[in-house]
Formats: sequence, structure tokens, C-alpha cells
Amino acid sequence: VRVTFTPIHRRGEGVSGTIAVLQDVTEQEKLEQARREFVANVSHELRTPLTTIKSYLEALDDGAMDDHQLATRFLGVTRSETERMIRLVTDLLHLSRLDSKQAIIAKESTVVSEMLEEVADRFSFQLQQRRIRIVIRIEQGISRIMLDRDKIDQVLDNLVSNAIKYTADEGTIHILARPVDKDLLQISVQDTGIGIPKKDLERIFERFYRVDKARSRNMGGTGLGLSIAREIIKAHGGAISLESEFGQGTKVVFTLPVQAEESEAI
Ligand code: ADP
Repeated sequence: VRVTFTPIHRRGEGVSGTIAVLQDVTEQEKLEQARREFVANVSHELRTPLTTIKSYLEALDDGAMDDHQLATRFLGVTRSETERMIRLVTDLLHLSRLDSKQAIIAKESTVVSEMLEEVADRFSFQLQQRRIRIVIRIEQGISRIMLDRDKIDQVLDNLVSNAIKYTADEGTIHILARPVDKDLLQISVQDTGIGIPKKDLERIFERFYRVDKARSRNMGGTGLGLSIAREIIKAHGGAISLESEFGQGTKVVFTLPVQAEESEAI
């Protein structure tokens, strides 16, 4: 707590009183600390691919260019590092728009089952390759909901992509949509993957927080997916949470409010 005293002067009377202001600076300091950490993280995350690109370009310059096979491989690396930077900057832009409330939430009427089936379709190639099964279940009650389709797709894509990334071959992913009550839809994505240790659980929605940085990077992750998902769900008036048993699997659950006139029984 910061305390500041300001004397009150009255003409001819000298100091007649004091105003004391008590200010809670812990919250302010925490924010400042988080901001500093964020900038350090962004710089580091951008510096890593840039350093890699630089060294591969130097190697090409130093003669690797004459070896066609080697040159092709090196160019492949610089391209994938560039793509990673683009993903990172795109994610940062999304976050900054959501933070500054500039992101426009354009809701449209959406059929829940169609939306979920389309998510699974987008990943069908990866799922087939890894022989991972997706099971979608829709409980009766809410078939349609108003939501920003692009943004909720982004949330779902992130959750399913994480589920695939952190699940061994031949695992199963369950997507379940069920009404919690008549004006709240709950959607969950559950996997049979590696899970998240207890100590990491409460920080997992923080920006750039990863259980295993090297692993996440190798998988092409930016460490921002869950933070973006949380902001998008918040902007819809919902909530998101994560349960996980290390070695058993992970379940991410989010809710979306339904306005009365938009809900429609199946
Ligand atoms: P990333 O781009 O690294 O996947 P996210 O914000 O999406 O970033 O996730 C943060 C971290 O949470 C991941 O690096 C990973 O350690 C952990 N995580 C997220 N989803 C899962 C999951 N389904 N199973 C296990 N770990 C997960």
C-alpha cells in the first residue's frame, strides 16, 4: 500500500489538516510485472526463429547454396521458421485486438452439430495419419446458438489441435455439446493424451505458458492458443476451464450463453 499525505492550507491559518491517500499498489505492480514479462517473452519468441534463419542464411552464403540438396533443406527450415513468426505475430494481433476490446464479435445463428462436425473435418487428414478417433456427441436441448463463427472456430481449432498434438497415436478425442440449463450451452473437448501436471494447471491459460517449451515449439505452437481462446470466450460472455490428469488426458470445457429467442429445441 502506498500512502501519500497532502497538507490542507487555509489562508492565514497555516496547515489546518491533512489528506491521506491509501493506494493499493500491489495490483498495479502485478500488472506492470506481467507486462514486462510479456514483452520479454515476445522478444524471446521472435528472436529464436530469427537467429535460426540468420544462421541458415549464413550457411547458404558460405557455400551450402552450391549443394542443391542441402540448400533445399536449409531453405525449408528458414521457411518454416518464417511461418512460425507469422503465426506468432498473427496471434499477438488477435490478442491485442481482444485486449483493447477492438475485436468485433459478429454473431450469427449457428447450428451446433454442423459447427462441430466441420471442426472434425478440418482435421481429418491429421486424424487419419495419427489414427486418432474423434467422437462428437450433441445432447438434446440447444441446437442453434448465436456466436461469432470465425472466432469460436478459432477456439475449437485450437482445442482440437492441442488434443491431437498431445495425444498418442490411436487415441480418442471426445467433443460433447450439452445444455447446462436452457440458456447456457457447454462444449467440451476431451482427449486421452499426456495430460498436464497439477502444478502447471492454474497457469496454463497465461500467455506463453507451456508445460514443455521445447516440445510445444517443435509442435509449431506459439503458447498463445489457450489465452486467445479464453479472451474469445470471455468476449462472448462465457467461461473456459481445464481439467487434466497427468498421463490420463485433458478436458477443456467452455460455456456460451444463449439468448432465449435464439435457443431452439431439437
Ligand atoms: P501451444 O501453442 O504451446 O499449444 P496453448 O496456449 O494452446 O499453446 O497451450 C499451452 C500449453 O498447454 C501447451 O504448450 C501444452 O503444454 C499445454 N496443453 C494444452 N492443451 C493440452 C492438451 N490437450 N494436453 C496436454 N497439454 C496441453
